[in-house]
Amino acid sequence: MNQAVARLEKYEGIDPEVWSETYLTEPQGLKDQQWFTNQVVRFDVDPELWSAEGFLSTLQAVEGQMDRVRDVKNGPRIIDLDIILFGDRVIDSGAYLTVPHPRAMERAFVLIPMADIDPAAMFPDGTTVAEALKKIDYRLEGNKIYQD
Ligand code: ADP
Ligand code: MG
Repeated sequence: MNQAVARLEKYEGIDPEVWSETYLTEPQGLKDQQWFTNQVVRFDVDPELWSAEGFLSTLQAVEGQMDRVRDVKNGPRIIDLDIILFGDRVIDSGAYLTVPHPRAMERAFVLIPMADIDPAAMFPDGTTVAEALKKIDYRLEGNKIYQD
């Protein structure tokens, strides 16, 4: 994940600002694999240079630079770079890009690291990260996140 951020930082107009802690998450669905490591990073993205779609294509380019292979759905992967929020924008570009990330508000492994950065951060519907966390069931033990 550090390597991905370092690669993104090399692009003009993409500047990492704040990093969450890293967490370990039990795999959902496919249980017979290693635990996932999750982190949220807030970037300052220059809107003059980057659309949300352009930014996603750069995330995918960096996944490619890191030899990410897309094979098994929900299976192990070297890196997965997703956009959770893009400012206060709501984007439904069909299959290519949906913002906010459609499952962000249900996933402890997204909300817990977001809360490290800013628990008052708001989804476009006005729900804060802290409020979204109160609505879901999860257990946090050290840096391990359990959620059914
Ligand atoms: P995962 O769902 O595990 O992140 P992928 O990384 O393979 O799986 O992403 C599948 C597709 O999701 C990508 O081809 C991308 O176009 C699409 N997508 C839609 N919205 C987003 C988003 N907010 N962030 C990242 N990818 C997204
Ligand atoms: Mg992805």
